[in-house]
Amino acid sequence: MAEPLLRLTGITRDFGEFRAVNDVSLDIHAGTITGLIGPNGAGKTTLFNVLTGMLPPTSGTVHLDGQDVTRFAPDALFSLGLGRTFQIPRPFTKMSVLENVMLAPLAQAGERLWGPFFGAAKMREQETAIRKRAMEVLDFVTLAPLADNAAGQISGGQMKLLELARILMGDPKLILLDEPAAGVNPTLTKTLIAKIEELNREGKTFVIIEHDMDFVMQHCNPVIALAEGRKVFEGTAEDAQNNTVLLDAYLGAQVE
Ligand code: ADP
Ligand code: MG
Repeated sequence: MAEPLLRLTGITRDFGEFRAVNDVSLDIHAGTITGLIGPNGAGKTTLFNVLTGMLPPTSGTVHLDGQDVTRFAPDALFSLGLGRTFQIPRPFTKMSVLENVMLAPLAQAGERLWGPFFGAAKMREQETAIRKRAMEVLDFVTLAPLADNAAGQISGGQMKLLELARILMGDPKLILLDEPAAGVNPTLTKTLIAKIEELNREGKTFVIIEHDMDFVMQHCNPVIALAEGRKVFEGTAEDAQNNTVLLDAYLGAQVE
């Protein structure tokens, strides 16, 4: 099999005495949509935090495209093509939807990089280019009509689409979504799924944390399950459906 796009090897993350993620190894292959499931508190978000550089692992390594990126900062990982959304979106609520997208990390990096070398005219030119790209991305996620609205005033589902727009500014190859459908109305969930599948057809790889098992079964393959910090299942969506270890994990029963 081809080298994985992302490889986690023995990732462990402790909070004091508590082991939130326990020796998790997994490979994510380019072009897949992986579903990451497991009960509340299983360590799913913590695993995302570790592999996006927001939290250092207690032990273990993260490789992206064969490169050891363990302990790389989130900005650096974003530049390498790793984008993630948050379980609870946190836009700059007083800024407009468009401004939020224009502020995506890579755009800022561009400004830092070029600002000192360019005159005011060039700066305006660059801002125009970023604005144009931001509008294209907003159009893609169907939020263009809301571009001038305050980000704090759009719905929770629209905020999830806004987060997707922000990470698309960086043209990521691997996109991590933390509960994209949670609390989102069915119409917007449909839009989100359509966008995920369109991006996937263009070659983007996804890892999606989601509780909605219909969503996972229909759109994710493979499926990986965590329980109490450990990987307890990895297989096809079909295999996941009647897997007793998995059912036990969800029922909180002892995993044998
Ligand atoms: P999931 O996303 O699977 O619901 P989390 O990764 O958010 O689970 O949390 C896993 C466990 O780690 C939970 O018991 C949670 O309380 C704990 N945890 C997460 N973040 C922290 C933190 N910053 N400090 C202490 N404990 C944490
Ligand atoms: Mg979580």
